[in-house]
Amino acid sequence: MEQTSDLVADGKIIEEESYLQRSEKYSQIELSHSYNGISLRGKIDFFNTSKKIVHETKRSNKVESAHIWQVKFYLWLLKLNDIEADGGIIEYPKLRVTENVELTDKDIKYLESSVIEIEKLISSNNCPSVINARICKSCSYYDFCYADE
Ligand code: SF4
Repeated sequence: MEQTSDLVADGKIIEEESYLQRSEKYSQIELSHSYNGISLRGKIDFFNTSKKIVHETKRSNKVESAHIWQVKFYLWLLKLNDIEADGGIIEYPKLRVTENVELTDKDIKYLESSVIEIEKLISSNNCPSVINARICKSCSYYDFCYADE
């Protein structure tokens, strides 16, 4: 759903406008890995190959744990592909702040159990109930979840 999301498009515009000068220093990489038969994929927009740092930009007005876990997932995916990475940095142009991200052994355990839970959810014949939370309004799946309303 991301390619059709205005929020994602908006985020890309912020990236392009705020960080144009970095384009030559960074590589975009697509990674995949089969973990316990579960297909994992990720596209890292900015990976500094010399400093071995993942960069992510967010349009949000606040630092959210989902942003941090997205970068931790990228760091895990790099590790699974035997690509050395020293950490991540999330940049918030609207806030003018940066958040450093590290991947710990405890994080890896959490990610391993999370992808197994997600796989179970995807394989289930029963769709989970909508959560009726504030976050739904900005979720890419909003139209699917609330189609009946
Ligand atoms: S809109 Fe998104 S967050 Fe809300 S219930 Fe659906 S999938 Fe979950």
